[in-house]
Amino acid sequence: MSKVIALSTPTMNGTELQYIHEAFETNWIAPLGPNVDAFEQALATYIGTSHVAALSSGTAAIHLALRALGVTDGDIVFCSDMTFAATCNPIKYERAVPVFIDSECNSWNMCPESLELAFAKYPQVKAVIVVNLYGTPAKLDEIASICQRHNTPLIEDAAESLGSTLNGVQTSRFGRIGILSFNGNKIITTSGGGALVCDDENIITKVRSWSNQSRDPARHYQHSELGYNYRMSNICAGIGRGQLTTLDLRITQKTDIYRRYKEAFSRCAFIAMNPIPDNCVANHWLSCITLYDDCPVSVIEIIERLEKERMECRPLWKPMSLQPYYEGCDFVSVSERAVSHDLFSRGLCLPSDVKMTMEEQAGVCRLISAQF
Ligand SMILES: *Cc1c(COP(=O)(O)O)cnc(C)c1O
Repeated sequence: MSKVIALSTPTMNGTELQYIHEAFETNWIAPLGPNVDAFEQALATYIGTSHVAALSSGTAAIHLALRALGVTDGDIVFCSDMTFAATCNPIKYERAVPVFIDSECNSWNMCPESLELAFAKYPQVKAVIVVNLYGTPAKLDEIASICQRHNTPLIEDAAESLGSTLNGVQTSRFGRIGILSFNGNKIITTSGGGALVCDDENIITKVRSWSNQSRDPARHYQHSELGYNYRMSNICAGIGRGQLTTLDLRITQKTDIYRRYKEAFSRCAFIAMNPIPDNCVANHWLSCITLYDDCPVSVIEIIERLEKERMECRPLWKPMSLQPYYEGCDFVSVSERAVSHDLFSRGLCLPSDVKMTMEEQAGVCRLISAQF
């Protein structure tokens, strides 16, 4: 059987093992430890921020970000509609109320006009979560200044966009708090993990304490606050240290994959690539296409055709406003037809694994082109 051409799987560079070895030799197998400290430091340097707290997942990072902003029972939180459920599930953990904000066409991310409309409707909103989908920065400057004008803190979910920049500034730095993910499918991985990025040392100190069961500095086990077991293990952080050394190479490889798709489909009248706005550099975590309305084949037909050849692809993230679990939540859009719903009906993610050869990618392009 031919090998699977994957959407995105972990790619090790070999240096990860050296850090894992160190952890074994020093018996630092527990959560926290020297690899965690060094990984946090290396991440902070890469991103250009003062503080990073490594955690057990991106989801945990979003959860603690909401707690740090005081989000609680009944509070309203605005959230990008087109995203993975991990972005908004933590809103429900805190029994708060998500309101989903439509996408715009230029980056597929949160639409600033729809965000403004939501502020007019819910002036009491407690926080905003913006997502950088597939590695493409949202209109972060605009969104951050809207939030600032309304005195509402912004959380930037940069789980998919590590290394992407807008006007030369790394994503995860535009909000009051940024979050990252190192899940297995992301551009770099710790097998499972995440991080919270914040310039405010008080928030970082709180988050570290909450993630470590909120232990008071006492000889006995004493807790004045609710705690969580959200720490990153010293083994996982070792993988992360190694992975970070080839992050820039991965971005170059992913960018080449995107360029080759773009070139291959440039003469196809039915296909558009996921758009990248001019003022940003995307990490191109996943390359995606949308089919035009008059396209003779459907997204599902293309996916099924590719799956037969063991080429892995997926529909775009199904918008949260269309998810059964979030039925009844408000959705705010300035468009007559929701942009997020429209993208979902016409879009798919293509194989974007950096281990895919040029020949394999050419095969994917040929197969897709042959459908029209
Ligand atoms: C992966 C992802 C997360 C969650 O990260 P985990 O580390 O898997 O918990 C959150 N938001 C988005 C947009 C993601 O893609």
